[in-house]
Amino acid sequence: MAGSIEKEIGRRRTFAIISHPDAGKTTLTEKFLLYGGAINTAGSVKGKANAKHAVSDWMEIEKERGISVTSSVLQFEYDDYCINILDTPGHEDFSEDTYRTLMAADCAVMVIDASKGVEAQTIKLFKVCVMRHIPIFTFINKMDREAKDTFELLDNIEKVLGIDTCPVNWPIGCGKEFKGVYERNSREILGFESVSTGGSKEAKETIISIDDGQAEQMIGEDFYENLMEEIELLDGASQPLDMEKVHKGELSPVFFGSALTNFGVQPFLEHFLQMTTAPLPRVSKGTEIAPAEHDFSAFVFKIQANMNKNHRDRIAFMRICSGKFEANMEVKHVQSKKKMRLSQPQQIMAQERKIVDEAYAGDIIGVFDPGIFSIGDTVCMPKDDFEYEGIPTFAPEHFARVIQLDSMKRKQFVKGVEQIAQEGAIQIFQEHQAGFAEIIVGVVGTLQFDVLKYRLENEYNCEIRLEPLPYQAIRWIKDVQTDMNKLKGVAEVKKVRDMRGNPLLLFKNEWGIQFVLDRNEGLELVEFSKE
Ligand code: GDP
Repeated sequence: MAGSIEKEIGRRRTFAIISHPDAGKTTLTEKFLLYGGAINTAGSVKGKANAKHAVSDWMEIEKERGISVTSSVLQFEYDDYCINILDTPGHEDFSEDTYRTLMAADCAVMVIDASKGVEAQTIKLFKVCVMRHIPIFTFINKMDREAKDTFELLDNIEKVLGIDTCPVNWPIGCGKEFKGVYERNSREILGFESVSTGGSKEAKETIISIDDGQAEQMIGEDFYENLMEEIELLDGASQPLDMEKVHKGELSPVFFGSALTNFGVQPFLEHFLQMTTAPLPRVSKGTEIAPAEHDFSAFVFKIQANMNKNHRDRIAFMRICSGKFEANMEVKHVQSKKKMRLSQPQQIMAQERKIVDEAYAGDIIGVFDPGIFSIGDTVCMPKDDFEYEGIPTFAPEHFARVIQLDSMKRKQFVKGVEQIAQEGAIQIFQEHQAGFAEIIVGVVGTLQFDVLKYRLENEYNCEIRLEPLPYQAIRWIKDVQTDMNKLKGVAEVKKVRDMRGNPLLLFKNEWGIQFVLDRNEGLELVEFSKE
């Protein structure tokens, strides 16, 4: 294969940033983009202020037939790298798409608020990274604010997430007394000094070797002494930076900084780029497909519907797994065996959408979908016969009964619910032994309920009412032959089936899951359903 393709793929880095809302994901992303020169001013990445109006935003955006930056991918250049950041929407627009996006990433950056430690949403997203064994890099943010004890923070990550950590740098003080970070490898102190420039907070960085006589003076005697003690403790107790373990997702390199003041962001980005690899092979039918050794192939990880009812088209987001994509090339949609051209391929560059002529393994493209793609589908060259592993179905956390208000419109209603479910925006379940008379909808984020109602009314002309159900957790029964009528301890549990007829149980809380497991020997319940 031509050397230039190999070179293009080799310089790609594709990662997702995961965090709990407010930890600083948007701020960090923005600083990355600033370094890459993709944006000129801070505050231009769509942030929290907009996400608060997630429902209306979503609809406005869809009306414009655009794609929200917050739920897409940002591509920018830094040094010789071509970087794709996959955004994982949080806040109210947290949905199954957030999980699916992680299937397209090669590694993840986990942003943690230094005053809070690991929070709920981080845990959920982390589980998906673990399932995929992808490398996870930790950025402990907001060191310019009061922070938890550093050892405690690392302990918290190790205990809550069950991953080993290796600090690449180490913070000196925090909050008003934040003095900077110590780089363990180079034995240098990166001094922090907060300065205000034109209303925005920036940090001045000074680099000094820890062995330089000035170092003690720069950070103060007490901090210096304390740092020396901590380093000794750390060198004796912490794990070595074993890159093999990092690449398997068993050990997370940890960095400290302050995204808001732009402190520690560039060192983090540079270490990160060096430690990560170019796109790795993905598995098709049990065989690894090396990105640079094969022609174009990709899989669909997300489908975005168009809200404009006159154009019931959608955009399918694909992660390119191998080779080079060229606009207008003839490809094969493996699941339907149809040959086609991918029309209007587009890529997101900072805030703009642009039509792309070419893209490489590691890149994400969004293509016009006339309704033939499903999540997890493979696209490759007509001569090839790849089929990438499917995308699991993630456990919804909110459930509601859908009540159709006008029973005369049964057909539209069923069609609408099924289509929306097929796009992957919602999951539908039927009560065990009740048929389609009763539809239960499960979603990962509650915004999806609003979306369902809005779309059924606007696109399918069906008024509905959603009756919330008191369940919070769902598990697939691993052995699909299990007789649900014979399960014990299920008085509080709702038995349902998904659209493929698989048996599932709905629980009022996580505790209920163990209760049922304890009473049914041999019963296995799973959180992700792999088709
Ligand atoms: P997201 O919800 O994870 O995307 O978080 P944002 O990037 O929107 O940040 C949430 C809030 O924390 C905003 O008000 C930011 O200005 C603030 N913030 C982000 N990073 C830092 C930091 O390093 N230090 C301080 N003091 N505030 C920060």
